[in-house]
Amino acid sequence: MQPVQSPLTAAAQWVRNRRGDRRRVPRRDVANKVLDELLAQVAAGGTEKRVVVMVAHPDDEAIGAGALLRGIPGAVVVHLTDGAPAADEYAQLKGFVSRADYAAARRREVVTALQVMGIPEESVRGLGFVDGELAWNLVAVCHAVMGVIDELKPDVILTHPYEGGHSDHDSVAFAVHMASGILQCEGAAAPVVLELTSYHNYNGRRRVFDFLPLGGEVARTYRLTTELRWLKRRMYSQFTSQQAVLETFPIAVERFRCAPRYLFTVPPHDGQLDYELRCRKISGAQWRDQAESALRALRSRRQFSVGKSA
Ligand SMILES: [Zn+2]
Repeated sequence: MQPVQSPLTAAAQWVRNRRGDRRRVPRRDVANKVLDELLAQVAAGGTEKRVVVMVAHPDDEAIGAGALLRGIPGAVVVHLTDGAPAADEYAQLKGFVSRADYAAARRREVVTALQVMGIPEESVRGLGFVDGELAWNLVAVCHAVMGVIDELKPDVILTHPYEGGHSDHDSVAFAVHMASGILQCEGAAAPVVLELTSYHNYNGRRRVFDFLPLGGEVARTYRLTTELRWLKRRMYSQFTSQQAVLETFPIAVERFRCAPRYLFTVPPHDGQLDYELRCRKISGAQWRDQAESALRALRSRRQFSVGKSA
């Protein structure tokens, strides 16, 4: 299966007005230099870079960057959702009374897990969207992400790739790309966007710890020492409600790359997306319709309220 090959320049149509592409990003060589510096500093004991990990669910950061975070004690981890779907029935299947109880449990789990890696509770933020519903709120999600970037002014955002693994993951990727590009165009500080791995459908099976090949971006592999593997196992064990899922994610390596320029209005790859195979809540076509609508709203620029006024 080949990913959809789109001319990178076509991505400029995402956010375009009379002045042309509204979504300028740092050059690839600059972004790769930042990634390599970050990994070298972490390997040498720690980095001073301001890093925000922006993910959909409380455990995505552990899977994709749990060990890396050990070397970034100043990182802020932001979860767009509280990890609890809207229906109480889902929480009850997990042994909780209500959605609110399940969300509170997921918060406790991720706070404890991140403490294993030296991240204090005050650096773990939840933006409170409902699990599974980010796609229906893309403009609000973009604004929430812009608010975090504007407040924290990170050098780096580490986030999901656009790969059809989970509709919420794709929604976070969309929001981070739009928010950082828009802020840059508004003259506000915009971060370098780097990616951690999540999962996607690849030739009919779920693939973890790798990226879809896209845009020529080369992934860097961070190999975990024995101590880091032990810590990451301890980290995983804090997620009591997610054990069945986490068991499927190995702990030997983590992979990172610079975010390619995506065209969010086309599928990330041919064939069925992972979330189309496993979840009946939203199809890829519906997600892309939402992205198209959000792009129209963002292009209008009437709703911007962060950074230099539009
Ligand atoms: Zn997730």
